[in-house]
Amino acid sequence: MQKKEKIYEILVIGSGLSALTFVDGYLEKNKKIDIISPDFNYRKKDKINHLKKLLPPQMMGSFNQVNNYFHYNNIIVNKNCNFFGSLEFGGLSNYWGMQIDKDILKDIKYLKHKTKKDLIKCFIDIFKTKKLMGKLEFNKNKISNNYIKNNYYYKKFNSRDKYLELSEPILAYKGKNKNLNDLDKINETTAKFTPKNLLKTISKKKIKFHNFALKSIKKHKKGLKLICTDGSNDKIFFTKKLILGCGTAVTTKLILDYLNIYKEIKIKHHPRLFCLYLAKKKWKNKMQFLPSYFHLKLKKNKSLFTADFRPGNDLIISAVIEFKKFLYPFKFLLNLIQKNLIFSSILFNPKFSNLFIRLNKKKNTAQIYSKKNDKRLEVKNSNNIIFNFLKKTNLIWPFKYSYFPSYGSDFHYFGTIPIGRKKGLSVNNNCQLYKDKNIYLIDGSVFNFVDNKYPLGVIMANARRIAKTLSKNEK
Ligand SMILES: Cc1cc2nc3c(=O)[nH]c(=O)nc-3n(C[C@H](O)[C@H](O)[C@H](O)COP(=O)(O)OP(=O)(O)OC[C@H]3O[C@@H](n4cnc5c(N)ncnc54)[C@H](O)[C@@H]3O)c2cc1C
Repeated sequence: MQKKEKIYEILVIGSGLSALTFVDGYLEKNKKIDIISPDFNYRKKDKINHLKKLLPPQMMGSFNQVNNYFHYNNIIVNKNCNFFGSLEFGGLSNYWGMQIDKDILKDIKYLKHKTKKDLIKCFIDIFKTKKLMGKLEFNKNKISNNYIKNNYYYKKFNSRDKYLELSEPILAYKGKNKNLNDLDKINETTAKFTPKNLLKTISKKKIKFHNFALKSIKKHKKGLKLICTDGSNDKIFFTKKLILGCGTAVTTKLILDYLNIYKEIKIKHHPRLFCLYLAKKKWKNKMQFLPSYFHLKLKKNKSLFTADFRPGNDLIISAVIEFKKFLYPFKFLLNLIQKNLIFSSILFNPKFSNLFIRLNKKKNTAQIYSKKNDKRLEVKNSNNIIFNFLKKTNLIWPFKYSYFPSYGSDFHYFGTIPIGRKKGLSVNNNCQLYKDKNIYLIDGSVFNFVDNKYPLGVIMANARRIAKTLSKNEK
């Protein structure tokens, strides 16, 4: 006799912070949940060698997982751009810089009133319950769980200027004090808001992980049929509701395949310019990787860019030397002055996005590529505004080095299947696909982050919001 198929009520795909924040919220009112997310410990043949030398410092030991991401998802990245993903427990969320932009209102203003209200509530919930560090202000409510900043640098970055103003992000570390947290006194590994640390707070009995990668989704009389692989063999899962949190590229590829869409789709992102400055005074700290807690934004055209700043550390110096091998003889010297080296990332408005994804019907692959495009002028002017500000405040010696590591090196990918267009490739305010209400998207693919250049806070708040909505509906 044929074995009866198990039909799940709900299945979550992925184990990054979008998926796990969903799970965390869902289990507040439900007893159990199943997650499909691979953690394969073998490496497939290299597919994306050109990305190897551009891995961010945090990911330098993770090329296997990056390579597997592209291999198992059948995604090809053209040599004219960079794109990162990681097929492992936690995905890219294992490596993020722990900075969250608290300025979320402008980017969600087009949503329905209730959606906006719920999203803000979930943002505050996460800030409070996870004891993140920083200051929040919504509708005259002020919540603080702040952190100590370097005083000398604070004064410099906070100097009055015609063009620029200081903005301070939320830091995703578990703080201890209600007033001021000392970053030098926290345990960096255990205090970080990472998938592993989040999982530790959820009862293991409530979650079942299935070590599979999702290859494709098909319609089924009971809901959806998921074709998955464990690396060698396929396995089929059936579910009534599907929650996709596999990061923008994979979520988009799976949906394009499900809806048979073969046209080009733009992936929004924040093109990034790397800059290096030489500070007059050391930026002392004891962290392995100090988050960039001073941000500069333009006063008038706020959304054009956000520039963040952090001092050098062993990891960054090793990554720079890996990339520019001729610097190897100077490694000792660079390490000696590492806290005088100020590294900055200037993240630009997604209107400069230049990444595209297209599904190839015959080969069942997706191609990610950039097009010829030159928007360098605005970028160059922005860089000069920052350089002049830093010189004027006497923070740096008059030296700068900047480098544009091609499109996609910013690791922020979003906006392919937006909320609210009421047609084709989009989702409704509950993040259900318009063409199939059983599919929910909970990662960056549903938003456009124009003002907010550090989007994971909104992504997590939204995942929690959808979890709460689904819990309510199921009661
Ligand atoms: C170095 C670095 C620094 C960053 N810094 C910041 C920052 O400071 N602030 C900020 O807001 N953002 C930052 N980001 C971006 C941030 O990390 C991402 O926005 C975030 O991780 C997205 O979370 P996610 O859960 O949607 O995707 P991911 O974390 O990528 O998780 C995707 C999950 O899906 C799984 N998966 C993939 N394919 C499949 C499949 N076929 N089947 C099943 N599962 C699959 C993966 O294994 C993974 O578990 C940074 C990123 C990097 C790399």
